[in-house]
Amino acid sequence: MKKKLTPFTKKQLEKIIETHPTPFHIYDEKAIKENARTLKTTFSWNEGFKEFFAVKAAPNPYLMKILHKEGFGADCSSLAELLLAQKAGITGEEIMFSSNDTPSEEFIKAREINATINLDDISHIAFLEKHAGLPEIICMRYNPGPLKKGNVIIGHPEEAKYGFTREQLFEGYKICKVKGVNRFGIHAMVASNELNADYFVETAEILFELVAEISQMLGIRFEFVNLSGGVGIPYIPEQEPIDLEALSRGVKEKYESIIIAGGLGPLKIFTECGRYITGPYGYLVSRVLHIKDTYKKFAGLDASMANLMRPAIYGAYHHITVMGKENEPHNIAYDVTGSLCENNDKFAIDRLLPELEPGDIVVIHDTGAHGHAMGFNYNGKLRSAELLLRDNGSVMQIRRAETIDDYFATLDFTSLASFKV
Ligand SMILES: *Cc1c(COP(=O)(O)O)cnc(C)c1O
Repeated sequence: MKKKLTPFTKKQLEKIIETHPTPFHIYDEKAIKENARTLKTTFSWNEGFKEFFAVKAAPNPYLMKILHKEGFGADCSSLAELLLAQKAGITGEEIMFSSNDTPSEEFIKAREINATINLDDISHIAFLEKHAGLPEIICMRYNPGPLKKGNVIIGHPEEAKYGFTREQLFEGYKICKVKGVNRFGIHAMVASNELNADYFVETAEILFELVAEISQMLGIRFEFVNLSGGVGIPYIPEQEPIDLEALSRGVKEKYESIIIAGGLGPLKIFTECGRYITGPYGYLVSRVLHIKDTYKKFAGLDASMANLMRPAIYGAYHHITVMGKENEPHNIAYDVTGSLCENNDKFAIDRLLPELEPGDIVVIHDTGAHGHAMGFNYNGKLRSAELLLRDNGSVMQIRRAETIDDYFATLDFTSLASFKV
């Protein structure tokens, strides 16, 4: 079994906890940077390669700024994410706006900051034109429908709410061309947390072939293909990481045989990964509050699904390290729970762990994407702080924990006294 390691020792973590009480998410800056550089290097054969970090995975401007310095843009899908990108110093074509069911204000904002708009539906061409005007560059999101099998999280493409059909794509580009759009991109996202590189090579092939067909039929030139995100990470220690080299090599072969051979180059390859970029480099740090022994053994933490929803909503595995007990026998099965009044508030079910006691520090791995970001306030639970383990070893708070005042901020108690019932 491959070991899941932590970028800090128990002693270092105890020191951090002295000033930053649990629970919190902590991100490893050094590892995030190294991974970003590897991704860039792996795709360096493509001159225009660019990763647009999917902001929804970890919407923290400090993380975005680190990634921007590495040359990444931002993939946004809401007004708040556009504003966040802007605050992090990312604007213009360094922003990919890949939204769906989009309100007009969001298109207006995206146009105002010159983000590249990735349309989710053919009806959005007219909608965008009406509310914000058509830009000179447009991307469209393709949904291959029954042509391609989806994976577990994303489901079958034909059931998915996203994207244009094939026929709509041809029609969409034609309409845009007639209306004066002169720069084009194409996008597809049909997988989530996928560890098989072939999946992305196939998607690239489908998109390259579409580029060839549409270019020929409509006499337009494509500038980029956006392979989107969905690249998986090994949450389970036995899983192998995706073979990024093979992914890149496979895409390159298709690029050469379809794009270069077809005289359609150069074409920029874009990605908009979230999970792959920060997922493995975030950790939820929590303490055991209670041990409960009924029909099962339960370890109750001071974190709850408000801090990390994935186990509860997807049954997702997140590895757990009990600090200082790494080498003790893992022979007791625990349900590791939070305090929400919801029985699915469990980080793990029947997980074999060393014997736990109140006060133990528990680290939940791979929470760097779709972790803190998915947090919510049901049951009056507050979202935790986010910390950054800098590459010089220091620790910086990059988001404070919510307070009860934050939770009450949308309520007006002054009218309550005079409120007659
Ligand atoms: C969620 C999402 C992503 C990022 O997905 P990951 O699985 O985190 O890589 C990218 N693009 C779009 C349009 C998305 O909705």
